[in-house]
Amino acid sequence: MSESVRRYVIIGNGFAGTTCAEQLRKIDAAASIIMFADEPYPLYNRIALPPMLRKQVTEAKVIIRDVAWHEKHTIDLRLSTRVDAINHEGKTVIAGGKEYPYDALLVATGGRPNPSEFPGAAGASNIYNFQYMSDTKAISESLETAKTAVSVGGSFIAYELAEAFVSRGVQTHWLIRGPRFLRRMLDEISGELLDEAARADGCTIHYNDEVKEFVRSNGVVTKVITTQGTEIAADCVGIGLGLTINTELVHGTPIEVGTGIKCDDRLETAVKGIFAAGDAAEFYDPTADMHYRMGTWNNAGAHGKVAAANMAGGDVRYHDVPEYSSKIFSEQTITQFGLSPEYRNDLTMVRSIEPEKKWYRALWFREDKLVGGLLIGKGNRAGKRRYLDAIKAKTPFAESEREALLHWHADQ
Ligand SMILES: Cc1cc2nc3c(=O)[nH]c(=O)nc-3n(C[C@H](O)[C@H](O)[C@H](O)COP(=O)(O)OP(=O)(O)OC[C@H]3O[C@@H](n4cnc5c(N)ncnc54)[C@H](O)[C@@H]3O)c2cc1C
Repeated sequence: MSESVRRYVIIGNGFAGTTCAEQLRKIDAAASIIMFADEPYPLYNRIALPPMLRKQVTEAKVIIRDVAWHEKHTIDLRLSTRVDAINHEGKTVIAGGKEYPYDALLVATGGRPNPSEFPGAAGASNIYNFQYMSDTKAISESLETAKTAVSVGGSFIAYELAEAFVSRGVQTHWLIRGPRFLRRMLDEISGELLDEAARADGCTIHYNDEVKEFVRSNGVVTKVITTQGTEIAADCVGIGLGLTINTELVHGTPIEVGTGIKCDDRLETAVKGIFAAGDAAEFYDPTADMHYRMGTWNNAGAHGKVAAANMAGGDVRYHDVPEYSSKIFSEQTITQFGLSPEYRNDLTMVRSIEPEKKWYRALWFREDKLVGGLLIGKGNRAGKRRYLDAIKAKTPFAESEREALLHWHADQ
């Protein structure tokens, strides 16, 4: 290899890592690009795992980049190969006992799901997390014969599990430790709307309750006993108790770790030449003027692009308002953008509810600036573009002007 060929190494082949590889190849046709993946699959669409579990899409449709695509773009994809260490001084990564030198390195390692640690959980064969393709296949097989299933947790993943159980015709219970789903973001009113949607689809939610113990027979959970004393028969248990971010590779380097791998708005860490992206990155957002982590598909892709530009010597800033949308059971949809009380506890709020339409809006302000919002209800997303523009532009709003923003029902 010629001395002038630039060497890029990417750890993690999720949407952040693979987008970065694709972008690097566009920028530099001659560069060496090695991407390590500890899973056995090329890029699959993680957000299509719930529809796959509901049997609405096939595995073939969920895999969005095949091995041939990597070969065509001369991206050296090392599947089932875990990176064990980064030598930031020698500028190499170590995998399978070999050292791979880099000129620029991306750490896009995402997170791993927290396991259930309730009594009776260890080693049970029918308790599942829901993060990987392999989890999806295992849960799907279990649902072929399950009659009753329990989802545990107040997170989006616990919701996706509950919804999949319902849609597969399995009697579904959902245990939420707090008073509502997404309790740090939703209030009582919005929580009630989503509760209605769950009940309309036949899902039973148990609030302020959690697992006390799993009762097992021959290593298989047969029953969940809750802290409130309810006993629920269970053939399949899904766990949605959050992620532990895969930051271990940068421990022992000067790179700071907070809720994720700390980086600036160019996604570069404190060690020059090492970048972070996607779920693993705690990035600086100049719009919000703070560091935070954002676990969404669009954010991972946008990070991949910005990281690639900067790894190749550019100076591109990540300047976007993160957002995501999801349907909630068959009756509801939720759209969230920017910051919410999940990220800061010093935000003020205005909100509106239209009960007949089952619509809810909340807008959050930090001092006089709009910083985020939540739109619940089918057909209640119009106006979102204006909000995003106002957040990006840091438009100031006096207190007296804020209620009127709730009536932005068109994008201009
Ligand atoms: C079931 C589910 C549903 C979701 N639904 C939505 C949705 O509706 N909307 C939305 O916006 N987001 C959703 N998300 C979140 C979204 O999928 C993630 O934010 C996004 O995929 C993160 O991409 P990433 O590339 O940062 O990380 P990941 O996709 O987590 O990729 C990181 C990869 O790195 C690998 N890795 C880790 N350590 C190493 C190592 N040492 N060596 C080699 N490889 C390593 C991991 O195994 C993994 O394959 C969902 C997630 C899940 C699990």
